[in-house]
Amino acid sequence: MQLTLRHTCLAALVALGVGCTEKDQTPAKVTVEENQATASTEADLATAAAIASADEKAIESGVDYHSYANMQDYTVQNIALDLDVNFDQKTISGTATLDIDALNEDGKPLILDTRALSINAVDGLDGPQTAALKFKLGQEDAHLGSPLSIDLAGQKKIRISYSTSPGASGVQWLTPEQTAGKQHPFLFTQAQAIHARSFVPLQDSPKARITYSATVRTPKALRAVMSANNDPKADKDGEYHFEMPQKVPSYLIALAVGDLEFKAMGERTGVYAEPSMLDAAAKEFEDTEAMLIATEKVYGPYRWDRYDLLILPPSFPFGGMENPRLSFITPTVIAGDKSLTALIAHELAHSWSGNLVTNASWRDLWLNEGFTTYLTNRIMQLIYGDDRYRMEMALGYEDLKSDIADLDDAREIMAIDLRGMDPDAVFSNVPYEKGSLFLYELENTIGRDNFDKFLRNYFDHFAFQSITTEDFLAYVESTLLAQYPDKLSKERFEQWIFQPGLLEDAPKPHSPAFENVDKNRSAWLDGSLALDAIDVSKWTSHEWKYFLDGMPEALSPEQMAALDAQFNLTSAGNNEVAHSWLMLVVKNDYQPGFERVHSFLTSIGRNKFLRPLYRALKENGKLELAREIFEEAKVGYHPLSVKVNSAILYPES
Ligand SMILES: [Zn+2]
Repeated sequence: MQLTLRHTCLAALVALGVGCTEKDQTPAKVTVEENQATASTEADLATAAAIASADEKAIESGVDYHSYANMQDYTVQNIALDLDVNFDQKTISGTATLDIDALNEDGKPLILDTRALSINAVDGLDGPQTAALKFKLGQEDAHLGSPLSIDLAGQKKIRISYSTSPGASGVQWLTPEQTAGKQHPFLFTQAQAIHARSFVPLQDSPKARITYSATVRTPKALRAVMSANNDPKADKDGEYHFEMPQKVPSYLIALAVGDLEFKAMGERTGVYAEPSMLDAAAKEFEDTEAMLIATEKVYGPYRWDRYDLLILPPSFPFGGMENPRLSFITPTVIAGDKSLTALIAHELAHSWSGNLVTNASWRDLWLNEGFTTYLTNRIMQLIYGDDRYRMEMALGYEDLKSDIADLDDAREIMAIDLRGMDPDAVFSNVPYEKGSLFLYELENTIGRDNFDKFLRNYFDHFAFQSITTEDFLAYVESTLLAQYPDKLSKERFEQWIFQPGLLEDAPKPHSPAFENVDKNRSAWLDGSLALDAIDVSKWTSHEWKYFLDGMPEALSPEQMAALDAQFNLTSAGNNEVAHSWLMLVVKNDYQPGFERVHSFLTSIGRNKFLRPLYRALKENGKLELAREIFEEAKVGYHPLSVKVNSAILYPES
């Protein structure tokens, strides 16, 4: 996922208040409730019990503390979905057929993860006739959902009939008003970290890899797409078929339904979007094919067939999500000048780090996001050159420093202990930027070519596997540490991975372009340089953003007016630059900018932009205005954005 400014995926959930930003030690509840449709079955909830008592024990590598599934007893190999999408009821309903391998002779019940699912029936399909199987749904835990225990009676192929709830945590239903076209409703799923269980009953763990297929029925005017083999030529006849032949972790199952058209960008790349955004998106992201080819040259073949983008409606509250073959992307990065395409590089990089070699549990997320952030910077350098590369790294470093200033020690550790917490809490800049900085240090220490060779071998070695931090350490012991004993040490690796904060002698990325911006800003502020004497002719949006974000909190009315007059900032087309400027507008009560504050907040739903602006309005004596804008805008916002910004503007309710 993409996080903050440049990386905005799941962290958005934390920002939205969905994740647990405070440490919440609520133990998992494992009480089993009788399902009304079944007779009594004695469920084996040993795994769940282990989860409940986990807090007292040392953390065990490879144990997924966020899944009830008894993966030591059963492996689900394939899931075949047959689903109806009902926009009126806001439900997805149908069947999931699971192919199951038993790993022992114990005959224990199969335990799956669910969240707010209605389970109607479970049938065994092995024999000539279907056999009704007994099942129980456990009590719901706030973080984990409910364990579904199924008495398999020796069956290896079972069919679960179920329906999602309208408030399913991984399914977002958008009204026509929340789309760009305003004509048709839209649906998208977001499974990471543990929301797949809210729309499919399954072993919901990143170490449980499955193949899947799906038949999805939709209203006729709409197109369904999945993280699978999409066919852009498929007739819009209300029924779509998908195959995902490569084994993926559960959090990469994804579905979207909407008024979608397709445009090719290259031989293997294309974009799906609402018709009104299609051409602009295809133009903005036309470098995607070049990124794909460049990444393959360094890190080995792209193994997922096609790489397409799905542009979500403006209300999409996140940055992007690396669903395989089809990354989900916010439209707010369509800037007109390719300045925000690091998001695409990031989601593409996940095709190697994350989707191909996957974190085995959420504690190991840094293996996904740290490697991906490092690769993102490298891809940006390959496509856009060294200046851009250094600016991207410097901005990431600023993000990391600000997180480390705010977070407590436990959350600054890359291999984070998430027991008893919502795993969405893992998404900070630590796994992303600290992980990336660690790899950057390795690159600097042994040389880029050598490190690239290592990475390429690493991706080959662990392809289509889910690995732990300890698997990584064992691998480097027989590779890097054996090859470069004079330059690298295991202690250093362990300090990076298990210690909070930043190591004193860690690399400090810097950007000559930003140093120039700092110089100019300071000179203007101390009166030694006029604005029209600053050469901004070659500035990118990165420099503009850095220029504005580095301004002091308080500027005089004359200074604000001078900045606007010289650089036309109130009309800035780039959303990042506009957002940085509008923060200054609000903080300094710069009246000519408020019309733009209004139009900005009523046209965009990405919460990374909304929340700081609403908060700034409130903190600067503009609560009434903030509420007025919010009441007008909220019909176009995602329910999660409504929720979190309501909490800012109406804290008493
Ligand atoms: Zn990511």
